[in-house]
Amino acid sequence: MEMHPFGNAGREVPVIGQGTWYIDNEDRETVIAALRRGIDLGMTHLDTAEMYGSGAAEEIVGEAIAGRRDEVFLVSKVLPDHASREGTLEACRESLERLGTDRLDCYLLHWRGSYPLEETFAAFEQLREEGSILSWGVSNFDVPDLEDALQVAGPGRIACNQVLYNLQERAIEHAVLPWCEKHRVAVVAYSPFGHGQFPRPGTPKWRVLKEIADHHHATPRQVALRFLVRRPSLFAIPKASTPDHAAENAGAGDLQLTKHELGRIDETFPVGPVPQALPML
Ligand code: NAP
Repeated sequence: MEMHPFGNAGREVPVIGQGTWYIDNEDRETVIAALRRGIDLGMTHLDTAEMYGSGAAEEIVGEAIAGRRDEVFLVSKVLPDHASREGTLEACRESLERLGTDRLDCYLLHWRGSYPLEETFAAFEQLREEGSILSWGVSNFDVPDLEDALQVAGPGRIACNQVLYNLQERAIEHAVLPWCEKHRVAVVAYSPFGHGQFPRPGTPKWRVLKEIADHHHATPRQVALRFLVRRPSLFAIPKASTPDHAAENAGAGDLQLTKHELGRIDETFPVGPVPQALPML
């Protein structure tokens, strides 16, 4: 599994990790087996949030990592409605309890809400000084939000920006990705399979992925994931609820595509126009 430095967080993180949105709707034993299989195969970046299943996803993650805490790069998120200074401290304590751990590797503001960033970031810094979180970042931040965040936090503090990014939604490439690269902020691609909207087998776009995949004894999904992490600043966190899906996704971690193949994918799934606002789910 290829690893890259995670922004300025001072840690190497696998390029392919694991998402956990809606895992609480799946068969519990199977999804825990999937997460563990993913960890075994190097997908040690686990992404969760207090929002997912109102804490139920964090509890499942906690069960999956029991006894293996040191192997994983554990990320959770505070809801904007909880992101006052006190609210953030409290939300983090509750997340840690559900996860059965004493620390998060990275803690994110899920999206920008009405509490001033000064409050949320002051809480993040306090949590970092206490050792409850090792780094912190943001999610769904467009460039003006990132500029505000940088002004409040100062350089070298924001570890990552987790954003919607998949073959059919490449809006971040216009401005967010270049901004993050300039400021050494890792970009984490959420919903890398389009949250269930992956090109259907047999369609022309799928056939391009399949042709490329066949050259590498790989699969179209592995090719798609690899494209999304083709730059050192990029990471992806597909969600899988079976061990077989997790194993397939982990296989993208060592796949190498040629410039020509990357170019074909680029043409097949064009970036599209500059959006009015950063797309999010
Ligand atoms: P996704 O990862 O794009 O897609 C998940 C879907 O792909 C599921 O239906 C899953 O099916 C399927 N899948 C995964 N691997 C597969 C495989 N190898 N073969 C066939 N199907 C496969 O969607 P997502 O859950 O929206 O995004 C991923 C993660 O990003 C989330 O879980 C969450 O952690 C994070 N996220 C963050 C935000 C944010 O605002 N920060 C927003 C959305 C998502 P199975 O479940 O059957 O395996």
